[in-house]
Amino acid sequence: MPELPEVETIARTLAPEVVGREILGVSAPDPSALQPSLAGFAALAAGRRIVSVGRRGKLLLIALDNQGVIGVHLRMTGRVTTCGPDQEPDRPRAVLALSGGQRLCFADVRRFGSMHAFGPGEIEAWPFFASLGPEPLGLGAAEFRARLGQGRARIKALLLDQHVVAGIGNIYADESLFRAGIRPDAPACGISPRKRDGLLAAIQTVLAQAIAENGSSIRDYRDANGDAGAFQNHFKAYGRGGKPCLACGETMRVARVAGRSSTFCPHCQRGGGEAAVLCSAPPHKS
Ligand code: ZN
Repeated sequence: MPELPEVETIARTLAPEVVGREILGVSAPDPSALQPSLAGFAALAAGRRIVSVGRRGKLLLIALDNQGVIGVHLRMTGRVTTCGPDQEPDRPRAVLALSGGQRLCFADVRRFGSMHAFGPGEIEAWPFFASLGPEPLGLGAAEFRARLGQGRARIKALLLDQHVVAGIGNIYADESLFRAGIRPDAPACGISPRKRDGLLAAIQTVLAQAIAENGSSIRDYRDANGDAGAFQNHFKAYGRGGKPCLACGETMRVARVAGRSSTFCPHCQRGGGEAAVLCSAPPHKS
């Protein structure tokens, strides 16, 4: 599933292909891909010029010249690519015909993704968008500490919660927790301020490096040009269950945390497991 670095890479590779072009028409072999509907999407998007491509959390944002925006949820297998008039798009759910013969294609094998068109000012009122937590790159240590809270929620569950911080999924949660030396099942209340600061630094380092490597390609992810990322070559935790820890040689373990398969080193990562101190002091009210 594309996370922040993959969506950022898609935005960066898509922008030079589509910015400045007018949306001439909208077609959808699978109309359920489009929100509010095929006709509603076309009414909001057709005739508009694309002015920029960006991202908020894992949501791809295509800004239009009337202050409207197209938000793309990639979910599990969504792909946004461009193809010219002489290229056949690969089983698209929706296609935007652009000026200059360009096309923007949304393909999505498992069909969990979607494209939403919004008129001027409408996206801010979308509950999903309005409730997103802050971006982790640029987030300050004090706010990060505060957003994790002093409760008993497992740290990985908090990192995956898009209301706490936006853009982190299973891969970058595991990679960041490994680098910070914190077990994914550690309760937030048991993580010291120093460890919290170290976790934020690890998150920011991992995300920045992954963006520099054009994301991680495990199965489906490709950028807007159809190219794979390379950060999977730097994984220290994700997908390494049963293999030796790259830091200490201990066998990496896999446990289910926050409903997700989570890989960690039982020697290098602390604070969780059956012996986890579930914080004797009552949780702070917030
Ligand atoms: Zn280790």
